[in-house]
Amino acid sequence: MGQTSTARTSHSVECRHCGKEFDLLAATWCGCGVRVDRPSKVCPYCMQCICLHPDYDNEALWNNAPRYLREHGFDRLFYLYL
Ligand SMILES: [Zn+2]
Ligand SMILES: [Zn+2]
Repeated sequence: MGQTSTARTSHSVECRHCGKEFDLLAATWCGCGVRVDRPSKVCPYCMQCICLHPDYDNEALWNNAPRYLREHGFDRLFYLYL
């Protein structure tokens, strides 16, 4: 009681390339340059980002990031990362 902080330090997602689960917050931002304005994270297992996903440009598939993710530099999240 009293500790109401909802601070979270990890956000597990499943890599769409290799299917392994990794921590989105611990992963590094990609430097592929496909989306300079909206880079994705690199899967630590297969080292691939999702910038080339065919739906990556579809705004309808992006949602506002939860606050604990915004504190880590995420403004909006691609649906695969939610
Ligand atoms: Zn992967
Ligand atoms: Zn990328």
